[in-house]
Amino acid sequence: METITKNLYEQLKKYFGFEAFKGLQEPIIKNVLEGNDTFVLMPTGGGKSLCYQLPALMLEGTAIVISPLIALMKNQVDAIRGFITDNNGVAHFLNSSLTKQQAQDVRDDLLKGATKLLYVAPESLTKEENVVLLRQLKISFYAVDEAHCISEWGHDFRPEYRRIRPIINEIGAAPLIALTATATPKVQHDIQRSLGMLDVQVFKSSFNRPNLYYEIRSKVNTEKEIIKFIKHNEGKSGIIYCLSRKKVEDLSELLKVNGIKALPYHAGMDANTRSNNQDQFLMESADIIVATIAFGMGIDKPDVRFVIHYDIPKSLEGYYQETGRAGRDGGEGRCITFYSYKDIHKLEKFMQGKPIAEQEISKQLLQEAAAYAESSICRRKLLLNYFGEDYIEENCGNCDNCLFPKQQFEGREYLIQVLETMLAVKEKFKTEHITNILVGIINSTIKSYRHHEHELFGSGADKDIRFWNAIIRHALILHFVEKEIDNYGLLKVTPKGRAYLKDPYPVQLTEDREYSESDDNDEVIIQNKGAACDEELLAMLKDLRRSVSKRLQLPPFVIFQDPSLEDMAIQYPITLDELKNCQGVGEGKAKKYGEDFVQLIKQYVDEKDITRPQDLIVKSVVNKSSTKVFIIQSIDRKLMFEDIADVKGFTMEELFTEIEAIVNSGTKLNINYYIEAVMDEDKVTDIYTYFKEEAEDETLDAAMAALGHDCTEEEVRLVRIRFMSEVAN
Ligand code: ADP
Ligand code: MG
Repeated sequence: METITKNLYEQLKKYFGFEAFKGLQEPIIKNVLEGNDTFVLMPTGGGKSLCYQLPALMLEGTAIVISPLIALMKNQVDAIRGFITDNNGVAHFLNSSLTKQQAQDVRDDLLKGATKLLYVAPESLTKEENVVLLRQLKISFYAVDEAHCISEWGHDFRPEYRRIRPIINEIGAAPLIALTATATPKVQHDIQRSLGMLDVQVFKSSFNRPNLYYEIRSKVNTEKEIIKFIKHNEGKSGIIYCLSRKKVEDLSELLKVNGIKALPYHAGMDANTRSNNQDQFLMESADIIVATIAFGMGIDKPDVRFVIHYDIPKSLEGYYQETGRAGRDGGEGRCITFYSYKDIHKLEKFMQGKPIAEQEISKQLLQEAAAYAESSICRRKLLLNYFGEDYIEENCGNCDNCLFPKQQFEGREYLIQVLETMLAVKEKFKTEHITNILVGIINSTIKSYRHHEHELFGSGADKDIRFWNAIIRHALILHFVEKEIDNYGLLKVTPKGRAYLKDPYPVQLTEDREYSESDDNDEVIIQNKGAACDEELLAMLKDLRRSVSKRLQLPPFVIFQDPSLEDMAIQYPITLDELKNCQGVGEGKAKKYGEDFVQLIKQYVDEKDITRPQDLIVKSVVNKSSTKVFIIQSIDRKLMFEDIADVKGFTMEELFTEIEAIVNSGTKLNINYYIEAVMDEDKVTDIYTYFKEEAEDETLDAAMAALGHDCTEEEVRLVRIRFMSEVAN
């Protein structure tokens, strides 16, 4: 055995130049060399590749590596070839990207016995001609990388992965090593079952990343919070994940406007720009990459100092993978997620239309993510628990819940209540149903089981759903309760839970955190809701607006709308230039009406000796987003609205909303050509006069009520755009 070990280290040094094995690599490699089936669960970056690459180079024959990441195969193969001089045949890949000639070369090398490692995409593996080819080879072993693709409960299910075992049997038996970084017990079981390796030795590393700091924030003022964070971490490298491509573009634009070196990355961009942006991030000429989850697979930048999730990821697997890209070098790695329950609803809506079974799975994964976000239990504990790992420290000292703990309370009676309720309904229901019984909420499911007549119905009505959700989560963490993932997440009481009922003891629990809802409507306008607005100043600004409005004989909303005043009461602009950074204040508005306001603010700031949050002044990008630029240019060129909408794939309603946003943010637009073309002149005058002389506010409802049935909403909106543009900007 000692000689094997010595030899291993020599080979490691010889081929890869490493001095020592990482984590469990050594016992894993030994197991493979001994010809045993092996299952490896190791977090991303743990060094899984080496677990099959080294034995492949050492053993006789060819190792077949099944991997779904066609794009990464070439890199891997190049890397191996780089280690071994003068032998390009040592590693090859077979996938749909090869030309006929290339495929032929691969075949020749394989049959010559020159190739130690052959990477194959699962869909190539199942091709008859390849099966025939592989049958002629001596195969040292099979490696199934990214093995979670076998499971519908993984985050990247690929049906072809289910066929691996039968195909392998057809090609010829050899030992098997399966590797994955997704380690929920459910996925683990699926993999082992599908590959027929239920009783193999499992090598599981801890998924704990002690250097990562986890934090969840309310999704309020998100853009501003992000800018603030980046400015406080100047020069550090970071990734910001957004769910939609549009958000990626808007946000990266906004960051740029605010002097941050940021670049976008998503699958909708052309390949050149995309890889260019990626390179710039890797080479550090850009600090920040704003990306969809398309970014990051196989990216090995060691010094990413933060990963921000603009939206909650669709699963905790995704969250773990993406946050895992921070602090790979063991240094600082801050992981901040902006959370609003509204996003969960949004994501659930997107799922509609998918097959029911798939929806059910996605929903459960999403609910786990929501529960993680809302819980006030140690994030590390929650996350590791999700991956089937117990984290026993009371306080990890490196997550928001541990650093800023919520008040604890004695939870014995609540735990008992939850467990008893589950038992009373024979452990046949999921969380939602149990909490509905406790709180006493009648819906169709409750009715169909007649649970509203159950004696426990409403027994926990003095607390709300959120409270009981938290108790159930605690019960899960304590292993009193278990979720049957296979079975729609039904809750079962474990033997440990039953023992607790017999002999309960005090347990300290916490309630969930509350996250404020935002009205983030995907508009790039900076929201200031929730930020500390100076109420006294705001009142003074409103007074000033009233008197200016009287003096100029214009309705107040024409001068500045409420959000603008609120923003002023946060940012304290004292010059016209600074004023332009406030929400809804453009060049024209600042010049026309701004002077009095900045004077007032200046005086106020001086008198009260206020430190202004200068570094946080965020420039809005409204005028710069590409859609908006397009609309502004089209209107300048007097294009008909119908045509503009057509080109952009907007409904008229959507186009109006875009135009209103442009005008409300202070840009002047001349749409008279269009109004003249589609409206009667008298009507225009009526509506215009209404806004100028009668209107108390700018709302459509009020206008429709005042103007009666003569005008359509579209007409009112059109004239309002003209009015705001002419008078307010
Ligand atoms: P995974 O597939 O588990 O995400 P990789 O196999 O891509 O991880 O390895 C991650 C990084 O760790 C790579 O840069 C690799 O070169 C490095 N690495 C692997 N094994 C060792 C080792 N024994 N010593 C030093 N670095 C290693
Ligand atoms: Mg890997």
